[in-house]
Amino acid sequence: MDPVAEGIWRISAPIPYPMKYVNLYLLEGDGLVLVDSALDTAPARAAIEEGLAERRAAPRDLDTVVLTHHHPDHYGLAGWFEEMGVPVYMLDVAIQRDHAWWSRFEPWLEQSTAHFREHGMPEAFIADLREVMEATRRRIRPHRAPLSLTSGQPIALAGQRYTVHWTPGHADGHLVLLRDDGVLIAGDAILDRITPNVGKWVGSRPDPLGDFLNSLERLRGLEPKRALVGHYGPAIEDVPARIAEIEQHHRERLQALERALAAGPRTAWELSLVLFPQEGLSTAQRRFAWAETLAHLVHMEGLGRVRRVPETPVRYQLVP
Ligand SMILES: [Zn+2]
Repeated sequence: MDPVAEGIWRISAPIPYPMKYVNLYLLEGDGLVLVDSALDTAPARAAIEEGLAERRAAPRDLDTVVLTHHHPDHYGLAGWFEEMGVPVYMLDVAIQRDHAWWSRFEPWLEQSTAHFREHGMPEAFIADLREVMEATRRRIRPHRAPLSLTSGQPIALAGQRYTVHWTPGHADGHLVLLRDDGVLIAGDAILDRITPNVGKWVGSRPDPLGDFLNSLERLRGLEPKRALVGHYGPAIEDVPARIAEIEQHHRERLQALERALAAGPRTAWELSLVLFPQEGLSTAQRRFAWAETLAHLVHMEGLGRVRRVPETPVRYQLVP
């Protein structure tokens, strides 16, 4: 491994998703800290063990694990570390909201199914999707006693001072860590090559896209010198330029939705097929496309540009 910033090493852990790897960051100095945790699979555990072995350490030697958010590829091994006695931290918002996705999975799956139906997903697709979600759950080992961080809180990690910042949007309880020298550990709050998925899931905050755009503004204001990201990368050197590209992407997507809605009321599912016409998307990718479309619709609803037709499944129409 080469360091990606002073005292920070990247461990690329394999994940069985199109992105192929999740970047975990090992902070080494006065202590040893891991940011994010990959899925609970043998190849991911081996990647973590090998990365730590290069620094002459083992997983149980970690002082702390910090999770940027609760998505499976960042969270899946939380319980593995906890079982070794390593304290695992998340943002307080994530513990209150997102952690239940995995710790109370069955009710969440049922609520999600109702939410999928409400927004036009076909029954056969829902059946496939439930299987995908159950398979994902088998690759997750939730921690029983998550420890809490608060936005704005200064925290010493491996002897360096960081500040925790809440950046909702990609996930309600997403956090980033800003080191005093301007190095930002960004998780999936911004990414290179792809834009972070912003979805309206069951139980999500009211306007995830609005949250996400506000979080980009907040990141811009932090003036990071470089951002270490959760996939691809590892580093974004010109953070303001990348933020501007992501903002432009969402403006264009909102315009594309307006054009698609000009043909009459549509469900989020129908619109997702217009916005994401690619064939061969996996069930999970189609679900992301649907949730992203719904997040944009809900955002437009908040701006008064669309409204719901009061029937089930919910259809959206332009406000004339
Ligand atoms: Zn994520």
